Amino acid sequence: MWLSNNGNLLTDKDQELIAQARKAIRLNYDGINYNHTVGAAVRCKSGNVYTGVNVYSLHGACAEQVAIGAAITQRERDFETIVAVRGKEGEEIIPPCGNCRQMLYDYMPECEVILMVHEEEQKIRAKELLPFAYKAED
Ligand SMILES: [Zn+2]
Repeated sequence: MWLSNNGNLLTDKDQELIAQARKAIRLNYDGINYNHTVGAAVRCKSGNVYTGVNVYSLHGACAEQVAIGAAITQRERDFETIVAVRGKEGEEIIPPCGNCRQMLYDYMPECEVILMVHEEEQKIRAKELLPFAYKAED
């Protein structure tokens, strides 16, 4: 397997992060009018957690983007761990889409992403989710 599994088991803080992402979508789930179906939570190195839900439009914003935008708005720049969940109760942990992988790579390549690998919760560094990544010119 190409992913390096360094025994990245989830900590209590990681479980709390998942719970916060689930709370964000549970409080805002809307499968009819605005298609809010995904919640995300990002934990910064400061310890602060920011959450978001996806915002629907033609080129809508993913929940991860909304959560990261909330963090950046509060002058956070160092990100530790991020997770996204889908469903009315946020029951499904989902991996970031391709666009988000690029954003994570640009903003926080060392940030750990919680996702399911072979039906197990694991943390994988953002940069490992986008091999041969596009890099903006310096
Ligand atoms: Zn996305």
